[in-house]
Amino acid sequence: MSGSLPSDAVTEPSTEFDASPSRIVLYPDPVLARPAMPVEVVDESVRTLAERMIELMRSSEGVGLAAPQVGVSRRIFVADPAPGPESVPVVFINPELEFGGSLEPFEEGCLSIPEVRVTVRRPSVVKIRALDLEGRPFELEDDDFPARVWQHEFDHLEGVLITDRMSPRDRLAHRKRLKEMREDFEAAGR
Ligand code: ZN
Repeated sequence: MSGSLPSDAVTEPSTEFDASPSRIVLYPDPVLARPAMPVEVVDESVRTLAERMIELMRSSEGVGLAAPQVGVSRRIFVADPAPGPESVPVVFINPELEFGGSLEPFEEGCLSIPEVRVTVRRPSVVKIRALDLEGRPFELEDDDFPARVWQHEFDHLEGVLITDRMSPRDRLAHRKRLKEMREDFEAAGR
């Protein structure tokens, strides 16, 4: 083949992703700061990815996990706000949120930022619309902890972390820990 590649050939994002990621990525991995791309087709690779995310969420004792947290920049998250033997995790693909109620403070943690807990103010009532694993639209509404989890995970799809929502007080409290994490990330050469 001769000639040069069209200029957009190198910048166009790959449509493939790792459907079996092995670990949760940690702050400050750049994938966590990037808005994720919509899922175009809900196919077998998306179902495999969602299954793997549920495994990783459970083994980490989390209540939610978003695809960027496993290094996949796609608009998918899983949530299991009341984990237990009976609970059924829900998968949200290309979710959209609608807010209501008042802003309520609540302390949140994040599997990508271990040992850091931050008080975040968020709307108390949320309606969420998304696609399920068969590509069918569904809608849920909540005014309690699940609404909180959905908003935290949705933030991940926008490239927003709880560290972006910290008060000056939390910022000061976690300065050392976040600096350590940045140094570890650099030392690992990623
Ligand atoms: Zn998180």
